[in-house]
Amino acid sequence: MTSQPGTPGNPLRVVIVGSGPSGFYAADFLQKQTDLTIEIDMLERLPTPYGLVRGGVAPDHPKIKSVTKVYDKIATSPGFRFYGNVTLGEDLTHDDLLRYYHAIIYAVGAQTDRQMGIPGEDLPGSHPATEFVGWYNAHPDFRDLTFDLNAERVAVIGNGNVAMDVARILASMRDELAKTDIADYALEALSRSRVREVYLLGRRGPAQAAFTNPELKEFGELEGADVVVTAEEAELDPLSSAAMVAGDDRMAERNVQTLLRFAAEGPAGKPRRIIMRFLVSPVEIIGTDRVEAIKIVKNELYQADDGSLRPRPTDQTEILPVDLVFRSIGYMGVALPGVPFDARKGVIPNAQGRVIDPSVPATVPGEYVVGWIKRGPSGIIGTNKPDSYETAGMLLEDARAGKLIEPAEPTREAFEAFIRRQQPEIVSFEDWELLNQAELANGAAVGRPRIKFSRVEDMLGVLAQHHEQAPQAGD
Ligand code: NAP
Repeated sequence: MTSQPGTPGNPLRVVIVGSGPSGFYAADFLQKQTDLTIEIDMLERLPTPYGLVRGGVAPDHPKIKSVTKVYDKIATSPGFRFYGNVTLGEDLTHDDLLRYYHAIIYAVGAQTDRQMGIPGEDLPGSHPATEFVGWYNAHPDFRDLTFDLNAERVAVIGNGNVAMDVARILASMRDELAKTDIADYALEALSRSRVREVYLLGRRGPAQAAFTNPELKEFGELEGADVVVTAEEAELDPLSSAAMVAGDDRMAERNVQTLLRFAAEGPAGKPRRIIMRFLVSPVEIIGTDRVEAIKIVKNELYQADDGSLRPRPTDQTEILPVDLVFRSIGYMGVALPGVPFDARKGVIPNAQGRVIDPSVPATVPGEYVVGWIKRGPSGIIGTNKPDSYETAGMLLEDARAGKLIEPAEPTREAFEAFIRRQQPEIVSFEDWELLNQAELANGAAVGRPRIKFSRVEDMLGVLAQHHEQAPQAGD
């Protein structure tokens, strides 16, 4: 019987699947343990790390992205290794992980979008906002999509921060976008865009909007777009007013104040307009071969049993002529092969991050989950820190109690040999740093902060060329 893992001779081997914020914060917590020797391998299906910080955060929010400095420190700490361009379910299986690791942490996020379930949802010209976000952020999965930006009127459905990002990017002028690291092809396409009006449709009222106040205020600072909210739309209904007086929701109060200010100021005559509508739900996307209009119903709020204010339709409907629709009603998790999954919630079932197999039901020894695939697609980047710390804490509790996986080959050498056979084009963290430098240099050459690579083959090509010129030790 071997000794409990966690010593220099027998390190505790942990694999983290996914390299977004939640994965990095889990690694951070494990690295803080001084009484255990822990080796962390991070697998990422793309050649690039950082998950939604690279592929989701809006390009005009560079401050938010600077959090990657923290992740770089984690990735370059002793005992940590990054394996990019490695896909669980393709290059290796769940059983393979059980062979090489004492513990597995799933940090794969929520990789698809929620459906609305209304007629016309899949007409050409109606897209999930998540695809548009991936496209303008140079995500390889989405870079070849096309969006008809000859459209003059666009509807964005939803009142979360993703809807705000999409509306803002659509309403931004070329020089506002050129200052950002938006994908080069997206910059060109958006520069030629004929979009004039962006309707932002919230199913509840201003006090229930999911967006945060800095994002709302940004609408008022756009160079080429007015934000249009009528006083009638910005006013609260009696139930919301009463809830606002009784409650202590500072974000909602600030949002309502900002909306009332927008309503009072009125439009300044800029070429584009973001038109904010509240208490409306889409009931149908209308069109023969493609989107021509959206039918919305006016809602009213009622108090649900849990005390929240929910929308219900009235008999008033309206048809908005629009040529393009972005559905921004939330992300949804996707099942991993061999791992329990709650398809209704789109999460891996868990208790404080310990994976649960509902068919037993019992926790699955040595398997853990963090981030959106643990709790659902909510919260900001920072929300992941306590979330991942909680899970990593459970892992360490189980490690100390000897309740992890008993892998057949718990060494880095064994895993390296295996994974290089499975996927010869692994991208290391040093490789990523090279790609990063190349992106920065390509941007500097044309006066932009960065030009992102958007094709995996381009990234691998740059790395192959580099390795040919400067062969690595062991090559
Ligand atoms: P979200 O914040 O959950 O917002 C989803 C929105 O869709 C809500 O307004 C919701 O309304 C609405 N909705 C849901 N189902 C609907 C339906 N059937 N019909 C009409 N509307 C519907 O989701 P998200 O915008 O995708 O953002 C995901 C997370 O990422 C959030 O936590 C967000 O704050 C975060 N994020 C942050 C930033 C940032 O910090 N700058 C940027 C982007 C994303 P109800 O409220 O009525 O359900």
